Amino acid sequence: MSVLVINCGSTSAKIDIVNPDTGDVVASSKLERLEPGSHASVLTKNLPAILEKLPPGSVTCVGHRVVHGGEQFVRPTVITPDVLKSIEELSSLAPLHNPANAAGISAALELLPDVPHVAVFDTAFHATLSRRSATYAIPTRLAEEHKIRRFGFHGTSHQFVAESAAKCLGEDLRDLRIITCHLGGGCSICAVEYGRSVETSMGMTPLEGLVMGTRSGDIDAGAILHLMRSGEMSIDDVDQLLNKRSGLAGLSGIGNDMRDIEAKAAEGDENCRLAIQVFCHRVRKYIGAYTAVMGGVDAIVFTAGIGENSQTIRHRVAQRMDYLGARLDEDRNRDVALDDKPVAAISAENSRVKILVAKTNESLAIARLTAKTAAEQKPSSQQTIPVAISARHVHLRQETVEALFGDGYELTELKPLSQPGQFAANECVTLIGPKRSIERVRILGPTRSKDQVEIARTDEFFLGLDAPVRASGKVENTPGITLEGTDGRRVVIPQGVICAWRHIHMTPKDAEQFGVENGDIVNVTVGEGGGRTLTFGDVLIRVKSTYKLEMHIDTDEGNAAELSSRDEGELSSTSGQATLTRNR
Ligand code: ADP
Repeated sequence: MSVLVINCGSTSAKIDIVNPDTGDVVASSKLERLEPGSHASVLTKNLPAILEKLPPGSVTCVGHRVVHGGEQFVRPTVITPDVLKSIEELSSLAPLHNPANAAGISAALELLPDVPHVAVFDTAFHATLSRRSATYAIPTRLAEEHKIRRFGFHGTSHQFVAESAAKCLGEDLRDLRIITCHLGGGCSICAVEYGRSVETSMGMTPLEGLVMGTRSGDIDAGAILHLMRSGEMSIDDVDQLLNKRSGLAGLSGIGNDMRDIEAKAAEGDENCRLAIQVFCHRVRKYIGAYTAVMGGVDAIVFTAGIGENSQTIRHRVAQRMDYLGARLDEDRNRDVALDDKPVAAISAENSRVKILVAKTNESLAIARLTAKTAAEQKPSSQQTIPVAISARHVHLRQETVEALFGDGYELTELKPLSQPGQFAANECVTLIGPKRSIERVRILGPTRSKDQVEIARTDEFFLGLDAPVRASGKVENTPGITLEGTDGRRVVIPQGVICAWRHIHMTPKDAEQFGVENGDIVNVTVGEGGGRTLTFGDVLIRVKSTYKLEMHIDTDEGNAAELSSRDEGELSSTSGQATLTRNR
């Protein structure tokens, strides 16, 4: 089985035929210096010759790289006429790329009408960016009207190398906080927190963030206004300046190739030295910032042309990082070779944070996502899932229970919950936040190994604290809170306040039926007769043989879907039903 991968850039078209399982490239061709608007005819002319060399029927599906998926496309998507139309409509957000991508799709659909075609979006991996990281501080109405928000790009690469890094470390991606640095012609950096992109440096367009080959990356918008007011530059001039004449090329004055810049810098060229310093300083700054965003980091990954090949740049970026527990091993950094392996460690043996170099492989990443998406096209189970609204509640350690209610105190059962073995206790606590308190918050039993307070966004603002979205049990680096039990007994828990990641409990048998696994992220459509239908992305699957099939959302989310909890104070089933569709 082979996947035809088509990657239409603004002035190029790359064709690869890849085995998604082995990564073997069966055939490859790159067509360059294309005129705008010529992608379709160039593919129509060149593709048949490439396909003719293969045994008939060996291409089982086609993957298309699409730069911008807007807010609509949050995962690889099988292309239908409607999907193609939407990709064309998103051209206003990516005027150089989406028209070329769409033209490539049209041409390939005509040549290979009988196999599934899948669009793989550069933006999709970043669909999990939180609102706080996706939002520019301009008036909300204006932002909505013009779709001005941060989307992020290079998502396929960030996801691919984060997965490779986790595999190399022998850990589950969902247990790691990784910073991936894609340093190529275009450059971007991404905070991958427990498998999800939570911050990335490119924004509404691929211009924001790091210094790139010819793009400026971050620049004060005031400087642009100043240039335009000076009368010297038109809108098109500024566009050219920031996208084509800036970055490494603009600073060095000798072009955008880092190899040349490094060579000249070594000979003493001041402009080239400055180019390298600005480039590396910006990456360092973002690594510090993203560590702060995730409340820590477990691995830093370098990838793409510069990241994979330049020991000098890696050295300059990763030196003096002892403050966050990352120590580069200079010998390993110098000698690293990725010829026969996809990832290599360049951190010192005793470095808590691993520093890795990983090969990115966009074609293989697209081929894998395409094969997976095409395989999932089979009709999925239409079984529905009961929805429960999980009101704010608390899980406690036995030690904390005793500190709140007295030595030897045991929680007493008010009533059983739908998940077997769990119960709502008679006991309640008061949550005392920095700003206000919430009384009578139900404790759920039995006691656990970690204290955990699960609240909704509304509660968060009421209490006056900032709780991250987390899967149950993942309380590292979360805010603490004061709990009050009976007789005014108080306990300060140093961490444990979270907004629970919406999730579905199911048994292994359910999982098999839905075609999902523990830890998968899915989309779920929720709604009930007469109410609103709402699709929740980013829903976590949790599988255990003792679980009962049920989706848990919090009160804010329940309100958004116009579902009401019959019984405030604990988990309670509603008549809401959910239908699950696979995510990536
Ligand atoms: P693109 O984003 O165009 O696919 P790549 O990921 O191939 O780009 O990265 C291209 C960049 O990588 C160029 O700036 C090139 O100079 C740089 N590069 C490649 N090899 C080296 C090397 N050995 N040392 C420094 N930079 C390198």
